[in-house]
Amino acid sequence: MQTDERPKHYCGIFGVFGVEDTARVIYDGLFSLQHRGQEGAGICVGNGERVFTCKGMGLVGELQNRPQFSELKGHLGIGHVRYSTTGAPRPANVQPLVVECIDGIWAVAHNGNLTNAHKLRKNYQEAGSIFQTSTDSELLLHLIADPVFRTRPLRVERALAELQGAFSYLVMTNNAVMAARDRYGFRPLSIGKLGSGYVFASETCALEQVGADYVRDVLPGELVVADKRGIRSSTFCEPVTVALGQCIFEHVYFARPDSVVFGQSVHDSRIRLGRRLAKEAPVEADLVIPVPDSGASAALGYSQASGIPLDYGFIRNHYIGRTFIMPVQSQRSDSVDMKLAVVPHVVRGKRIVVVDDSLIRGTTSRRRVNALREAGAKEVHLRISCPPTRHPCYFGIDFPTRTELVAADKTVEEVCKFVGADSLAYNSLEGLLSAVDHPDDFCTGCFTGKYPYDVGTEERRKNALETWAGAM
Ligand code: SF4
Repeated sequence: MQTDERPKHYCGIFGVFGVEDTARVIYDGLFSLQHRGQEGAGICVGNGERVFTCKGMGLVGELQNRPQFSELKGHLGIGHVRYSTTGAPRPANVQPLVVECIDGIWAVAHNGNLTNAHKLRKNYQEAGSIFQTSTDSELLLHLIADPVFRTRPLRVERALAELQGAFSYLVMTNNAVMAARDRYGFRPLSIGKLGSGYVFASETCALEQVGADYVRDVLPGELVVADKRGIRSSTFCEPVTVALGQCIFEHVYFARPDSVVFGQSVHDSRIRLGRRLAKEAPVEADLVIPVPDSGASAALGYSQASGIPLDYGFIRNHYIGRTFIMPVQSQRSDSVDMKLAVVPHVVRGKRIVVVDDSLIRGTTSRRRVNALREAGAKEVHLRISCPPTRHPCYFGIDFPTRTELVAADKTVEEVCKFVGADSLAYNSLEGLLSAVDHPDDFCTGCFTGKYPYDVGTEERRKNALETWAGAM
């Protein structure tokens, strides 16, 4: 079990205003965002007077079994799927977070990570505030409720302007749903139109799922409000004059390939990664096989560019969660064998190129290389569609600590030896950036150690905000 992972979570958010069958639409939207978080899920729905909430630990599908699900009646609502690195998962941290303020109900759902959370929280605690959760997400509610902001115009904008770091937020009041994205645009957030109503989603695959038409992305630094007057926009910070910090890992691994993220098809960018990889790291082989599912598009690109046929040497058990998404190391290791099975007659006697999206700890790849050899593969060449991951992420992705990143202190040859492959090669940074439009507007911090801005020295241990040992 890891003892010092950062408190980052990686989540999906979905919200609606003015649609029919609100709870069902949010449920369906969250279902297609399940890959972004499997630790907890929640929906809250409002009818203008009351807000109803259904949430808990586990998958989206489990919400239907809760008695509160049938009470979700109204015309506006937000939902959340959560993943966190919290060692002791806490139901209190499951979102949306809902509070009663002096002027009504407020609810938030957050994807990202705030880099000034510790300082803000300490300030509020010193002033007497009581926190319900150990998430950074709750801070926005305290800012919104703070008389300093509450009594002034542009209250939500002013509150958002206090936050640093990565955030795509959905905020719900009794009569509006709002969507905001941090000034660097780290995490995606899109707007859709459904009938006469509006939909917000972390990824466009969720818009497709509910039959909404894509309108546009929420812009970095923008607050979009949907209410009975329609939709309107404001900015809550000075426009970023330097490059944006869109997370390139969304394209490498996290987003679903049928999504358009930061204005670009994820499937297309992964194919480009694979094609580039074939040029940068060719190898004589009989077969290209993808690591399902996120390696599939890159493997197709590698096959197209190299002329080596593609086949499915791994079969995925879809009833097991993504290993990188699982929060505890023991769960992660135990699930690997359950998750992928080798198809022996595909790989037997062949020289195999395995294309994967990333190599984090290396233990999973080692297991897979070994499984391919046991199934009779003659050679196993590992190709990774991004550069070596050597640095932590401070913006909402649960990377292990540096000591746990297999490439942090090892050469490529040493990593190759560790995983037991005949050869190992990564895409170069230039290769990675060649796969996306407007490459200057992407964060590549986990590969380069250079982040879009100086994140300072604030406490970033896993449990930096987790000071109470009791279960909630
Ligand atoms: S450090 Fe890596 S994972 Fe984190 S936001 Fe930047 S590119 Fe994405």
